[in-house]
Formats: sequence, C-alpha cells, structure tokens
Amino acid sequence: MEDLIKLLDENLEVDTYEIIDDEIFIYTKSARTEATCPYCGHGSNKVHFFYTREFNDLSILGKKSNIILKNRKFFCNNSECKYKTFAETFDFLGFKTKKTKRLEEYIINISQNISSLATEKLLKKNVIKIGKSSICNLLKKRNTVG
Ligand SMILES: [Zn+2]
Repeated sequence: MEDLIKLLDENLEVDTYEIIDDEIFIYTKSARTEATCPYCGHGSNKVHFFYTREFNDLSILGKKSNIILKNRKFFCNNSECKYKTFAETFDFLGFKTKKTKRLEEYIINISQNISSLATEKLLKKNVIKIGKSSICNLLKKRNTVG
C-alpha cells in the first residue's frame, strides 16, 4: 500500500487501511518536514493544526479508493505575507476538490465518448459513486479552464 500511495506523492505515508465490501479506505499523512506557502513561496515547519481531508482516487484492484489524509495547516513564517496560515497542498489534488486530478481526468475522458448517465453507471460499479450532474460540472470546469 505504501508503494501505491507514493505514486501520488513520494512524501505520503500510510498509517493504516481497511477494505469494506467494494471499497478501500486508506489513512495517510505527509512526511514532508516543511511546506511552502502558496501565497508568498516561503517555507514553514510550524504546524498550526491538523484536519482531515477525504478524497477519491482511481480504483485499486477493482475496489473504489477512499483516501483519508491527515492534512496540516501551517503558520507562514514570512511577516510580509498577508496570509497568516496556509494548508499543505499536493500536486495531485486540486484546491477544495474531493477527487485526485487523475481521477477527474479519467472521468472526463470516459464522458467525452458516452453520455453522463452511461458514465455514471459505468463508474458506479468499481470506481466512484458520482451523479451525472457532477460529471457535467467536471466537463464544464474543463471547458472553462481550457
Ligand atoms: Zn506566506
């Protein structure tokens, strides 16, 4: 499991995981000692607090994957920065989303060829429970971004 989670980000570590029916739940945390403030670019190792961030990724061996990340909020060390705190971010996960970028990519690719309703049915089996309106939103988001 550790090797798999490191495919998302090499700094991630697995605390534990459990398989319940057709889903797998992976509890993970970042081992990075320092995070970079996205607003000013300064590094910080002063953790403010921890919070849980949950998201889905591509399926693993046919099981829907749920990742529960112990995410950290840091104090920004830069007195010039207008933000006092910032959350640790990851390249594989967008801001405030509940799906990894590669899962979003996968959903978009499928839905470009078949209807949103057919996409919903296909994904429900072993990838993710997602409604057709959420699929449409992903497509819309893609079309506005580029
Ligand atoms: Zn900052």
